[in-house]
Formats: sequence, C-alpha cells, structure tokens
Amino acid sequence: MKNIIFFGPPGAGKGTQAKIISEHLKISHLSTGEILRNKILQKDELANQLKEIMSAGKLVSDDILNKIVLERLTNETNKGYILDGYPRTIVQSEFLNTFLKNSSSKIDYIFNIKINFEILRNRIIKRSSEESREDDNLEVIQTRYSEYLNTTQKVSNLYKDTHKEIFHEIDGSSEIQEITSNIIKILKKS
Ligand code: AMP
Repeated sequence: MKNIIFFGPPGAGKGTQAKIISEHLKISHLSTGEILRNKILQKDELANQLKEIMSAGKLVSDDILNKIVLERLTNETNKGYILDGYPRTIVQSEFLNTFLKNSSSKIDYIFNIKINFEILRNRIIKRSSEESREDDNLEVIQTRYSEYLNTTQKVSNLYKDTHKEIFHEIDGSSEIQEITSNIIKILKKS
C-alpha cells in the first residue's frame, strides 16, 4: 500500500508527475483539479459556481473539496493513491488526518515539487495554449500563485515539520524524466 501526497505551486508539474508515478505504481491518481473540471462540464448550478471561482484562480470551498475527497477515498479499492492538489488548506489537512485515523491508514510519502516563479510563468503560458484551460492565463496565474503562497505553502510547511521522515523536496526545474527518476529513486530507497 502506497499513499502519496504531491505538493507544489500551480505549473510545477505535480499533475504530470502524479500521473506517471500512479501508472508506474499502479495506484489511483486523485487530481482534485481534474475532478472539479469534470464537474464544470455538467453545467448545473454547482458547475456555474465552480467555473466562476476556478477561472478566477481562487480556491474552491473546503466543504466541496472534503466531500469530493471523502467520496473518492471511501470507494478506493486500489493498492494506494496519489493525492494531487489536496490538501490545499489547513482545514482540508485536518479533514484528511481525521479520515486517515478513522480508516486506520496513513500517508507513506510526500513530495514537494519546488520551482521558481519565472520558470513557472513560462510553463503556464505554454500550457495555456496547449490545453486551453481558462485558469492558465497570466493574470489568473498570479492569483493562483498567491493562493499557493498564502494558503497551500503553509500546509506543506506544516507537513514538513510533522512528517519529516516521509517529506521529500523535489527540484521541479529539471526535465520531466529526470524529476520522475528522482521520485522513483526515493520510492525504491524507503
Ligand atoms: P489544479 O488542477 O490542481 O491546479 O486545480 C485547479 C483549480 O481547482 C484550483 O486553482 C482551484 O480553483 C481548484 N482546486 C483544486 N483542488 C483544490 C483544493 N484542494 N482546494 C480548493 N480548490 C481546489
């Protein structure tokens, strides 16, 4: 059983690495951003709300996220999972702790992908033309990055303090394959 969390600012490559590593380990890839983007396609009242929040680069409410994650993790039958984009707030991390405690499970690895804003900015511009995501333009990326610095980085710093032995910093400025092999080395070692 391998349960993993990926942290990192928007555009750091969390999603790309989470996908590759989940296929490598044959475990589930739970991307909250992806789940929310799929919900938007349903075009109901919730979809309209989500669209407004996400296209502005803001965080969706903890209640919505915790409900989504609880549902997905409760139905999890695989040999483990990667949380990609969750927890992003302290409230979400507390909710996850309670879930883990109640289900007598734990997180085995945490990878924090680090990258500077300049590289990130260029990647986002490239991705926006390739994937036409509404939240991938420069103005919105500033908001998403601020949300990361003001909120999510506090969560990853907390995990860094409380989960030292499973917390791994990863250089996100390298090539995709090199990042993957650095992560796999850590997974093999410990
Ligand atoms: P991502 O694909 O992980 O970059 O997420 C895209 C967008 O989905 C974010 O900018 C948020 O608006 C929303 N989102 C995804 N995960 C969360 C979360 N854990 N908490 C709040 N909002 C989230």
